[in-house]
Amino acid sequence: SRKSKQTDTVIALGETEIGSGKPLLIAGPCSVESREQVREVAAALKQAGITVMRGGAFKPRTSPYEFQGLGVEGLKILKEAADEFGLRIVSEIVDPAHIELACDYVDVIQIGARNMQNFELLKAAGQANVPILLKRGLAATIEEFIYAAEYIASKGNSRIMLIERGIRTYEKATRNTLDISAVPILKQETHLPVLVDVTHSTGRKEIMAPCAKAALAAGADGVMVEVHPNPAEALSDAAQQLNIPQFHRFFEEVKQSGLL
Ligand code: PEP
Ligand code: MN
Repeated sequence: SRKSKQTDTVIALGETEIGSGKPLLIAGPCSVESREQVREVAAALKQAGITVMRGGAFKPRTSPYEFQGLGVEGLKILKEAADEFGLRIVSEIVDPAHIELACDYVDVIQIGARNMQNFELLKAAGQANVPILLKRGLAATIEEFIYAAEYIASKGNSRIMLIERGIRTYEKATRNTLDISAVPILKQETHLPVLVDVTHSTGRKEIMAPCAKAALAAGADGVMVEVHPNPAEALSDAAQQLNIPQFHRFFEEVKQSGLL
């Protein structure tokens, strides 16, 4: 919390410094599906000047009958593309036993919304030697979110980024309700970088750019968005991933605001 540390935590990923005042855009597919799919996205991101790519290898799906991810093979595909295109990688880990292995492949470990209160996973992440991107739980209060980050920090890893990804409310117009107010509250109450995931919060492509601008205007240190070469055929989140031209338009629109 701010009480224990007044200065902002800045997390370095190569040349990129998260939380330093220059906002970051993290983009990439929901799931790693194939080498070709990841390379296609990586090439587009590189061309756009993006430095950090996301991609899920272990997918915590709501239904056990849906695609569960490629696992370690997916991490290898990410690492290969990252090395080829000079990108940094964020990928979700769901099992405490995989934290150590993940550090060989990824630059940032994501802990997903469904695991925000998986305390054994949080404690294992606290022993990792890479930064952690912690997502807000589907129905977690801001206080619970901060306590989850404390679990990680209490084990020695204070390189934590918080990411608001929408919460469950009665509203059905969006997939979740983007809690913009969480951004300035988390900035006030913690010293950690705060990001906003405009894909899982809105679930609506046409409002992702305005929501990204709102996040940055509210003080977010970065935004995350999902991009897929062919969203209609995607093995997860087919309805809400941007294709590559849509991603370029999204990026241009957000940049034009002068906030990114
Ligand atoms: C994701 O970012 O891949 C994801 C599964 O999101 P969330 O945990 O926020 O649902
Ligand atoms: Mn997704």
